[in-house]
Amino acid sequence: MKQPNDFPRLSLGIFPTPVRKLENLSRQLGIELWIKRDDLTGLGLGGNKLRKLEFLLAEAKAQGAELVFTTGGAQSNHAMLTAAAANRLGMEPVLILKKRGVTACRGNQLLEKLMGTEVLFMDTDDYADIYAEMDRIGAARGKPYYKIPCGGSNALGSLGYVECAREIAEQGEHFDHIVCAEGSGGTMAGLALGAKLYLPGTTVHGMMVDTDPFDEITPRLMREAAALLEAELAITSSDYRLRDACGPGYAIPSAEGNAAVRLMAAREGIFLDPVYTGKAFGGLLAMAREGTFRPGERVLFVHTGGAGGLFAMDWEEA
Ligand SMILES: *Cc1c(COP(=O)(O)O)cnc(C)c1O
Repeated sequence: MKQPNDFPRLSLGIFPTPVRKLENLSRQLGIELWIKRDDLTGLGLGGNKLRKLEFLLAEAKAQGAELVFTTGGAQSNHAMLTAAAANRLGMEPVLILKKRGVTACRGNQLLEKLMGTEVLFMDTDDYADIYAEMDRIGAARGKPYYKIPCGGSNALGSLGYVECAREIAEQGEHFDHIVCAEGSGGTMAGLALGAKLYLPGTTVHGMMVDTDPFDEITPRLMREAAALLEAELAITSSDYRLRDACGPGYAIPSAEGNAAVRLMAAREGIFLDPVYTGKAFGGLLAMAREGTFRPGERVLFVHTGGAGGLFAMDWEEA
């Protein structure tokens, strides 16, 4: 079997990210709660996408790409971070984003403007239209280009989170549960596969913040990433747990999510976001209330970033 680090990888972030105990919330919730600070990955405003981009952009560079396309919602953290990383590496980012959501010059839109990034909006709900538009623009400009899927969530990108699980193992603390947000699937699939490989006795829980069929997406990405690693593993539904944390819809704040953002901010001085990490932490709080975690068990919440989203939202109304 190969290890993630056997694949070409560019150094863009600052790793390992810290693992720390949340003392105040541990006391309050009666569980041993820790956090992995993947909001501090060290480029842009940090966040989980950097781990995937280290692998994806290595492939883009190796292929001689001059343009890097990616996509997502109008306030995509992934798209913003892709632009920051591509700029650093001397490739030209082109973002083709879905038009629905907050397109005003706030949050990640503002950051893209500050970087001078080319951002195009497409009025579609189908990513196939957007990938076709990437091919059209790439061909028209006559430059070699590389397309990164929404969220960087393909098998190669997911290796970033297989590697994160290896990093957690190396940091030496054992966790009974790992909890993360699941939006396009690569983070959860990578962590769940990585836990199977490097973290025996750890259950990974994906808090679904969108309505895609994650019960199909998660094992498929896990199998594809395992195939890349040439790992002889059978992936079954006992290798991961999923929980709905979407509330009223993707990128629409939920009362539980916003309460979780406020709780983490007030008790620990750490800022979550309303689209991903707030809803995911809200799911963790509900699991704690329901007794999912047994006394004495240790729980690791993976803070996947999203700070840009905090500043795209009207909190008075939220
Ligand atoms: C993209 C994103 C996620 C979800 O990760 P996926 O790999 O897309 O499932 C979680 N948190 C933040 C802040 C993100 O930007």
